[in-house]
Amino acid sequence: MSGLETIRTLIRTACKKAARDVSSVTLVAVTKNRSEEEISGLLDQGVRVFGENRVQEAQTHWQNKRPRYPDLQLHLIGPLQTNKVKDAVALFDVIETVDRIELVDALVKECQKQNKFPRFFIQINIGEEPQKSGIAITDLPTLLAHTRTAGLKVEGLMCIPPADGPPALYFALLKKLANRYDLPHTSMGMSSDFVKAITLGASHIRIGTALFETQS
Ligand SMILES: *Cc1c(COP(=O)(O)O)cnc(C)c1O
Repeated sequence: MSGLETIRTLIRTACKKAARDVSSVTLVAVTKNRSEEEISGLLDQGVRVFGENRVQEAQTHWQNKRPRYPDLQLHLIGPLQTNKVKDAVALFDVIETVDRIELVDALVKECQKQNKFPRFFIQINIGEEPQKSGIAITDLPTLLAHTRTAGLKVEGLMCIPPADGPPALYFALLKKLANRYDLPHTSMGMSSDFVKAITLGASHIRIGTALFETQS
């Protein structure tokens, strides 16, 4: 079985157990550091939703593929510098890593300029780790209020839980925050923990490594 087939099976099982519709979970295939062959392999298997960490690498991977795959959905899942906002707005369908007021303002300006409006999630530094990007939970209400006044529509929250320790508490917390602020989407769960994330209500799971491993 390909990594993709294994993951699709696990997603179906997890959804069934959680009494969730399979269509309520979007698999975002993470293709950072992947070769053209690996990317083509996924496209051939029907994958259309992809995640990238860096704007420049994403351009290399995807810029010329839109004409052939008009239904591509590209997610930015890595930190966004304001000097890359122009390229990011031009390329991505979903920007998952909005995390500061300055970035919101730059995005609003650029969207209007290009008349192109991607979808936005806010990244939360859910484990309050100093080295991680994302906004602190306590700063979320202020940032959300700012997005509303600025006219940037936020649809969800995204997080990367601390590497050491069980992710379930963090997934539950992200889901709780999303509910509290009426945000329909939560992007949480990666190769090692996406089943748990589905159980706890993830709408988007971001999977890299496990997609490219083949099981017997
Ligand atoms: C690389 C990456 C992933 C995928 O991680 P895997 O463990 O390879 O599945 C998911 N989210 C983000 C933000 C990443 O940088």
